[in-house]
Amino acid sequence: MPKINTSASSGKTKKEIVQTPKGTRDILPNEMYVWQKVEEKIQAVIEYYGFKPIRTPHFEHTEIFSASLGDATDVVEKQMYTFKTRGGDSLTLRPEGTVPIMRAYLQHGMKSWPQPVMLYYNGSFFRHERPQKGRFREFGQFGIEIVGDGGAVSDAIIIRVLTLALEDLGLKNFTVHINTLGDKECRGAYRKELMQYFRKKVNYLCKDCKVRLKKNPLRILDCDKEECVEIKEGAPQMIEYACSDCKAHFKEVLEFLDELDVPYFLDHYLVRGLDYYSRTVFEIMFEEDQTESEVDKEVDKNEKKKTPRKLALAGGGRYDYLSKALSSKEIPGTGGAIGLDRIVELLKTLNINVGRHRAPKIFLIQLGTYAKRKSLSLMEEFRKSNIPLAQSFSRDSITSQLKIAGKLGVDYALILGQKEAMENAVIVRSMYDGIQETVPIPKLLEYVKKKLKK
Ligand code: AMP
Repeated sequence: MPKINTSASSGKTKKEIVQTPKGTRDILPNEMYVWQKVEEKIQAVIEYYGFKPIRTPHFEHTEIFSASLGDATDVVEKQMYTFKTRGGDSLTLRPEGTVPIMRAYLQHGMKSWPQPVMLYYNGSFFRHERPQKGRFREFGQFGIEIVGDGGAVSDAIIIRVLTLALEDLGLKNFTVHINTLGDKECRGAYRKELMQYFRKKVNYLCKDCKVRLKKNPLRILDCDKEECVEIKEGAPQMIEYACSDCKAHFKEVLEFLDELDVPYFLDHYLVRGLDYYSRTVFEIMFEEDQTESEVDKEVDKNEKKKTPRKLALAGGGRYDYLSKALSSKEIPGTGGAIGLDRIVELLKTLNINVGRHRAPKIFLIQLGTYAKRKSLSLMEEFRKSNIPLAQSFSRDSITSQLKIAGKLGVDYALILGQKEAMENAVIVRSMYDGIQETVPIPKLLEYVKKKLKK
């Protein structure tokens, strides 16, 4: 635990402020408004397509993750925040959203609901990763799941809805990378083939991949170390080993995407990090170099060559065997999630404005105790009429209150002085030309509404 350091300089002891834990951060009001707008926009698209909200706990029994994500995955091996309760249970902060949704589906007997069950969630997830740009230990995801349908159309809907959400946020330069992982049988044959291929090159693989080769050779395809990326280039591709059913399913997904005009890139080595995936897997990548960001301009100026950095904005896939890892039932499912931290960061880099917080157009100024009391009930009337109003009740001087009103850029200041409070009236002052008018309080709301309309 970080200690509260005290340092003694010039005879005084000074307490150092404890910072947020590594890989986490505070999101302050200005950025929160962007998050809220982003969430609002994503939610609007998702709800339109019939997904319903669900909220699951931030922590779950460890076994639901260890049983389904795969032993040889980074998430289970290194990234889970696992702790013991006083009663001795092992709990884990959720590292992803799909497993808890399937757990909830099984726990609440959603099989008896009209199928498929279409759900969405939005919240924090936790992975003990090495923090870097766009990668945090607590991060936000907006996810959607279609549980109870094995059809290709559901995979296409997931991808379509996620890309629509990104488009609605004003993002353009992204590509859907897509692949099939086949089913248990055909993936088994592919695994063998991969194993043979990588065995011949084992000496050139990175340390981690040497271990992966024994436990789960598919994960080598996920490695981004230079030496492994090079070796990967010549590796066999899943599509060559897919059985006819898996091939047909994949073809159908692609046909739906063609029909919906969703551009995609067949990424034969896309496997994604978790074991529960089957058949379709996808990632939505943004190519940073296509932007006119400040970073790029800087690079141009220096005429340095920069390899385009691809940024994963969203990812997902089909998980037809997940329910079997958690129960005896076999329930197909498919889903995907958008990473909110990266979206907000990207919008900032690209200077995309997702819309402003509804800023108040009027400011209520009060002078004296009686006026302050009256102001509070006046404020309630404005709230009930859904008219945003700003104030600074902790201040007493008219100059400082007018200054704040000016900074906020409101159209009108409502001034409630001692005299006005006694007379049950308010001075309405235009912030453009300083023209003032005294209006009786019973007529104030209508008066302000008319003014704002103009
Ligand atoms: P995943 O659950 O790994 O498929 O991630 C889906 C999306 O969530 C990714 O495309 C990222 O945008 C985002 N994401 C995943 N891990 C992190 C992280 N550690 N920090 C920030 N965003 C993340």
